[in-house]
Amino acid sequence: MKTIGLIGGMSWESTAVYYRLLNELAREHLGGLHSAKLLMWSFDFAEIEALQSANDWDTATDRMIDAAKRVERGGAECILICTNTMHKMFDTVQNSINIPVIHIADATASVIKQTNVQKPILLATRYTMEQNFYKGRLRDKHNVHAVVPDETERKLVHDVIYNELCQGIIKESSKHSYLDIINSLQQNGSDGVILGCTEVGLLIHPDDTDLPVFDTTQLHAQAAMNFALTP
Ligand code: GLU
Repeated sequence: MKTIGLIGGMSWESTAVYYRLLNELAREHLGGLHSAKLLMWSFDFAEIEALQSANDWDTATDRMIDAAKRVERGGAECILICTNTMHKMFDTVQNSINIPVIHIADATASVIKQTNVQKPILLATRYTMEQNFYKGRLRDKHNVHAVVPDETERKLVHDVIYNELCQGIIKESSKHSYLDIINSLQQNGSDGVILGCTEVGLLIHPDDTDLPVFDTTQLHAQAAMNFALTP
């Protein structure tokens, strides 16, 4: 089994989910006492969030490169960036190291493409929903045309992520708000839901909606375990 490197702490609430999922997948595939070989760098998320909201993506990119190099030096054989948003600097991070970074949108799209889903709803941070680095990759590389909520709804989705989910707060009222957004976009023809933020799976579960749900955290962890177990 190969060693998987994690760049986590964005937030640790979802990194903890990655840790559990990767170990569960190792047990599922190998049985008995097997667990995943992991090496993690975990940020203080307050520092990263301050750079994001100040639009200081250059410094954020430097921090990501530094983390990736630390994890590579430690002996990891691939890297997971445990957040959708920080895939904004995926290319620069990948180009600064010699081990593969497994892209969360590629892991997600490869599963979407096995279904009939054409227009999935993307629930994510404002950065992921509004900028091109994620939707553009889904569209141009995978022919998956993600649909995003309107501006007011995007603000709600974003605020719930930072003010609640990343702080370990799970509110029934926020779940209802998310489901209202899903229902209204479903009525407009959307046919799936991408949980495009690694914490959203803490709030929305597959049985909350009759649309197929694609949880990026789970699909990313699965792609990494497939990589780790491929000789
Ligand atoms: N974990 C979240 C994501 O998947 C948001 C936190 C962040 O900005 O990194 O995008």
